[in-house]
Amino acid sequence: MVLREKMNAKMGDAELVAGIQRLKQEKDIVVLAHFYVQDEIQDVADYIGDSYQLAKLAKTTPQQTICFCGVNFMGESAKILSPGKRVIMPDIKAGCPMADMITTDEIERVKAQYDDLAVVAYVNTTAETKAHSDVCVTSSNCLEIVRSLPQKNIYFIPDINLGSYIKSQVPEKNVILHDGFCCVHHKIRVPAVQEMIEANPDYKVLVHPEAQAEVVALGDVVGSTKVLLDEVKKNDAPGYIVCTEVGILHQMQKAAPGKEFLVPTRTQTCRSMKRNTLQKLYDAMDTMTPEVKMDEELMQQALRPLEKMMELSLNLVR
Ligand code: SF4
Repeated sequence: MVLREKMNAKMGDAELVAGIQRLKQEKDIVVLAHFYVQDEIQDVADYIGDSYQLAKLAKTTPQQTICFCGVNFMGESAKILSPGKRVIMPDIKAGCPMADMITTDEIERVKAQYDDLAVVAYVNTTAETKAHSDVCVTSSNCLEIVRSLPQKNIYFIPDINLGSYIKSQVPEKNVILHDGFCCVHHKIRVPAVQEMIEANPDYKVLVHPEAQAEVVALGDVVGSTKVLLDEVKKNDAPGYIVCTEVGILHQMQKAAPGKEFLVPTRTQTCRSMKRNTLQKLYDAMDTMTPEVKMDEELMQQALRPLEKMMELSLNLVR
């Protein structure tokens, strides 16, 4: 073990936090953290958000180094949108199992079957997948973007649950589904949610559309992590039944202290997100590694659907 590792290994959380704050200044680093990472990382981050919010922030923050606490497709998106900046991650091997469920061969096979087809990729995809897609979407803008596309046939990848939600809301399109899923949201079961609703009829049910359709149907509010957090900020219910990854509870509890937050399933934890630790964050900032490195051509190709999403989102706002 090198001397620095030996010294760092002995640091407690308070020292790590102080060290992270110092390194931000010394090395001109901004720390971005996804809502699903551990509480102590959210507390030390400069910005907390969903993957799309953070990718946009990566582009606009003045710091020349971004330390992205999330899973690796998020680091890739930050790099694609800000190619001139250095992007480092506490754990570059933290991958998203759902993003890995689709292959480019599958995409090309479906493309070959239709003349009038748009490949719509959830932002939770690898750069390779994005490079084979026409437009990206988030759980916040997917309905509007799919509605606005000229193509009749939509191949939505990779999340079958979000895809089914789109299919139900946009019946005028022929939405072809892939069978990927987020193992965290997919495991939330209807009986567990119903039991909580029966015991707490005044509580609001907040559901992320990556959950299965039967769970989505029970939601008072269905939307991205940001939408669900914004709902809690209204503070107009005695409690909430939260059907998404438990990391978001940290910000929800801050937004509505004293309210009760219930989680229907014990497995609502993303192990990949939890690979990010304070120690790894400190080490990444200290050594400026591991760094997200990508092939120039791949970055260019993956940028297209991200830019298309931004262009269409702007048109929707107008
Ligand atoms: S919560 Fe689901 S979609 Fe998000 S990184 Fe984990 S496995 Fe992937």
